[in-house]
Formats: sequence, C-alpha cells, structure tokens
Amino acid sequence: MVSHLFFYQLVLVALVWLCLMLQWAWPSDPATVCPTTPEPPGPRPKRHHEPTPFAGLTTKPHCDACEHGSAPRPQPPSAPPPRMVPTRGRRRQVDTSRQFCPHPDCAYWGWVGWGNLRANGHPNGGPWRQLLCVACRHYFLETLGTLLHGKRMPTELIVRVIACLAEGMGIRGTARVFEVDPNTVLQWLVEAAEQLQAFSRHVLHDVRVRQVQLDELFALLSAVKDGTVSAAEAIARLERSPQWVWVAMDPESKLLLVLDVGDRTLGMAQRVVHQVVQVLAPDCAPLFLTDGFREYLTALLPHYGHWVQSPRRQAQGPAPKPRWMPLPSLLYAQVVKTVRRRRLVDVKHRVVFGSLEAVNHILAPLGWHINTAFVERINLTIRQHVAAVGRRVSTLCKGEEGLRQQLALHHVYYNFCLPHASLRQPLSQPEPTKGSGSATQWRPCTPAMAAGLTDHVWTLREVLLFRVPPWPQPVGV
Ligand SMILES: [Zn+2]
Repeated sequence: MVSHLFFYQLVLVALVWLCLMLQWAWPSDPATVCPTTPEPPGPRPKRHHEPTPFAGLTTKPHCDACEHGSAPRPQPPSAPPPRMVPTRGRRRQVDTSRQFCPHPDCAYWGWVGWGNLRANGHPNGGPWRQLLCVACRHYFLETLGTLLHGKRMPTELIVRVIACLAEGMGIRGTARVFEVDPNTVLQWLVEAAEQLQAFSRHVLHDVRVRQVQLDELFALLSAVKDGTVSAAEAIARLERSPQWVWVAMDPESKLLLVLDVGDRTLGMAQRVVHQVVQVLAPDCAPLFLTDGFREYLTALLPHYGHWVQSPRRQAQGPAPKPRWMPLPSLLYAQVVKTVRRRRLVDVKHRVVFGSLEAVNHILAPLGWHINTAFVERINLTIRQHVAAVGRRVSTLCKGEEGLRQQLALHHVYYNFCLPHASLRQPLSQPEPTKGSGSATQWRPCTPAMAAGLTDHVWTLREVLLFRVPPWPQPVGV
C-alpha cells in the first residue's frame, strides 16, 4: 500500500518535471511577433541571453532628413522695431495683442502684439474686424491667413464641420450631417490641415521632456473603390504598400510630439526621430522607449552620438580607429513582446543604451517600469478620432496625403483642445455648475497645458482663428 502511494507520487513528480522541461525547451514559433509590431522579413539574429554591449560604428550613421536639409526654423529679424504705445486718444478697447502686420515690406511684419495695429470696425457689416497697421497704413482682416478668411459659409458651420472631422467622423458622413457638398468638406480639411501643421510647428519647439515613447500603428487605408476590387485584392494591395502611423509622445504630459505617415522602414524611423529632435530643446536627451523594431537604434545614433577614441592596446602599430558611440546621456530601452497565436505570451525589457539603474532612476519616481503602454493607449485614441485609420471606410481621403491631413487635424485637436482625464488638477475650491448638478472639483487640463505650452484649454474655433506668425516670437503663445 505504502509502495503504491510512493509510486504515484514519483510519477506525479516526474510528470511535473517533464512539463517544466517542455515549457523551457520548446522551440518558439518563428512567426511569433506582436500584431502591432511585425518584424520585417529577414534572417533572425541568433539569440543571446547576455546582450553584448554596443561596440560602436566606424562611420557616422547618416540621417536623410539632416542631409537633405529640412527647412531650418525661420528666425526673427535681428533687430525688432520699437514697440508702439498709443499716447493720444482714449484707451484702446479691442485687443490686438495676438495680431501682426502681414505685409513683408513693413518693419513691423510678423511682430505679434507690437502695438502697431488699430481696430477699424467691421467692413460692410461683416463678422470680422478690420485692422490697420499704423506703420505701413495697410488694412487687413483679422482672419487673414486662416481657414475662415474669405469664406461665405457661416463660421459656426465651418468650425463644426472641422470639429466633426476631428472627432473621427468621415468626410461623407460629415457632409451629410451638415448638408454640405463632400468636396467642400474635403477642401476645408485640406486648408485646415495646412494651417494646423503650421500651428504645430509654431508651438511645438524647445519642448523639455524626460521620456519619449515611440510606436508604429498599422493603418487600414481604403485603397480600393467600393465594389470594384475584391476584399482579397484589397488585402494584397495593403500588403504591398502598408501604411503606418508613427507616433512619438511624452508619457508624462501625454503631449503628442510627432505624428507621421509612412512605411515601416529605417528611413521612416530616421525621419520620425529627426522630427522628435526638432521638437525637443537642443540639450534635452530624454529616455527613449520603443517596441522591438530594431531600426530605432540606427535612427537614434546620428542625433545622440559622438566619436570616441579608444585607448591603444599595444605600444606600436596604428592607433585604433575612433568609433561612433551613443552619448553617455542617451538612454534607450525596448519592450519586446512575443505573441503566439494572437496571444501575448512574453514581454521582455531590454536596455539598449545606458544602464538599467539610470533608466529606473527616471521611471521609479513615477512608480513606472519600462513600458510602452501610454503610446499604445494613444494609438487607440487615434483609431477613434481619425476616420481613415480606424475603419475600412471609403472616405474621400484616400491614400497617404489624405491620412496626413486628418492626422494634422488630430495632432492639434488632441494636444490643445481635448482635456485628458488623467491630467486634471484638483480645484482649491469646488466651483458651482450652471445647472443643479454637483460642484466641479477638477480643472480640465490638456497635454499642451501639462507640457507648459499654454495656460488654457483651446477651443477649435480659437485654434482655427490663430494667425500663425512667420517666425517664433520672443514669448510663447
Ligand atoms: Zn505694417
């Protein structure tokens, strides 16, 4: 009897051991990649359990965007004209402190709030005010250079149409709701996108962040017309020219730094990192967190690297060649996810540049570990707010250019107009609401407010009316 019991226990132990060994030794499926981060086809590198330290490069890695000389930021003229202070007449009632003279020949061209502008009433009883530059005696409307300039349609209608697009409605749907021609809606979107891209360039610069999370999001572009191409063909086409939305964000302020469209290639990774560098302050080297896409490593090195001369090992012979190494301040960690049969089976954290202690030094005060959760959450927001990404809809916005326009709209709307629930700040005193509801306890906060770029929640109307000056102003917006 005793021997039977012992025998069963022995068999049980043997089975458990066998299971454990199988779990450990089972060769992993070669197609185990995350659905959001498929690796490009190619030879798989040999697995190392101990990552070897980065040995450096013998040539400086290039960055296409740097070499092709992306347009440098416009600089203000060296000497500003003297500020104008009105000495005669009554106090000015109309605030012109956000306006500037649009005439390039004028000495006051582009200087915002320099006191050279006078309000001149509403010509022909129109909705917009006329302004006069007293330096060059030119008149212009306060909407000059914005989407709303010279539009016959009511302003409220245009703002609401753009708001609908920003909230993720398709172009045709928006056109039906407001009974406007779809081509008119498309035209407004194109104009708004151009203006908002300039707005983003104007406000997003010299940003200081401690972390940047990068990710790529697969976009299902409707590259097919309804009914003319089968679903199988559509998928084949998508496979031939996959579209990816590249996202770079600061997980602390939730600020969207860069939103771009392109393939999942090294060139595109370089372009995105280049744009991130343009947005950040020159001396700001944040902790970069990405998925396992290996091209990020090559993309980060041109901007965050330097030549290192390693010491001689022998007294004779040529000195060792200098090597291009990451800056000591550069911290970069990856979150490598393994998915098997659509199930997440393993998450590995890999510190690529810097030490785990240095990375944890940044993350630990926030109670965080190495993660890319925040940028993955933003991907969901983008899917909800950008019609062309979220659904296989047949919008008028086909192809890359259309997606770019919708993303330009979403970029500003998300950063400046949408209060983020996790950023809200408690009010020192609850404020009563207009209705019979309970008092407000919180002050809404947008990512741009959290990043210190602005002090209030912008309305879309305010954004669309903002005249982007030709160069960065001495004080922020
Ligand atoms: Zn002027």
